[in-house]
Amino acid sequence: MTRRGMQLVFQDPAGSLNPQMRVADLVGEPLRIHERRLTREERRARAADVLERTGMGQEFLDRYPHELSGGQAQRVAIARALILKPAVLVCDEAVAALDGTVREDTLALLREQQQETHVAIIFITHDLAVARSISHRVLVMYLGEPVELAPTAELYARPKHPYTQALLSAIPVPDPENPGGTKTISGEAPSALSPPAGCSFHPRCPQAEDLCRRERPRARNLGRATVSCHLAEE
Ligand code: SF4
Repeated sequence: MTRRGMQLVFQDPAGSLNPQMRVADLVGEPLRIHERRLTREERRARAADVLERTGMGQEFLDRYPHELSGGQAQRVAIARALILKPAVLVCDEAVAALDGTVREDTLALLREQQQETHVAIIFITHDLAVARSISHRVLVMYLGEPVELAPTAELYARPKHPYTQALLSAIPVPDPENPGGTKTISGEAPSALSPPAGCSFHPRCPQAEDLCRRERPRARNLGRATVSCHLAEE
């Protein structure tokens, strides 16, 4: 029951689909595992329904993955993930391999499905513009640990953690008068296997002081945000 309630969409749509299976069988495969009483025809009908919700018609049902574009393959992967009506959908860099308009279309599809089905989407991305466009809340992580959690509008308007501030400052701004990039992070990220003592961000943090090198900051509630930084203020 837990497994069927949590589904995944991977980064590489082509690599996540079995090249020897047709779209109808790929999309219907979760039903073969979790709803065994269904016949092949019933699974095909359900696959057609969910594919239609992702903007793909019946003509795709008998195609193989190599006959799909990258965007179509990702729609098939999303349809397969949605067919069991999951409570949680984890999208791991789900649009990173897609370009321009296909990326926007796929994000629009996910937003639409989220509104229609109320599925909770955990969207993992390194792209801050994508995070902003798809999320209600954003969790920023550094070295595998959460450093700031806030509602999206709040986080982008008033970032509190120095790492979040530097990330947002690095977003290119198409304005020669205001090029951005005012807060840079120096050095390389250390190994997550042997993180620095104290705050793991301190070797790169422009605001680090002695306390940061000695003590690991605890998560604190600052207004609507939760921040792991000794010096962050509301
Ligand atoms: Fe920087 Fe110190 Fe905050 Fe860590 S705890 S982010 S080192 S100011």
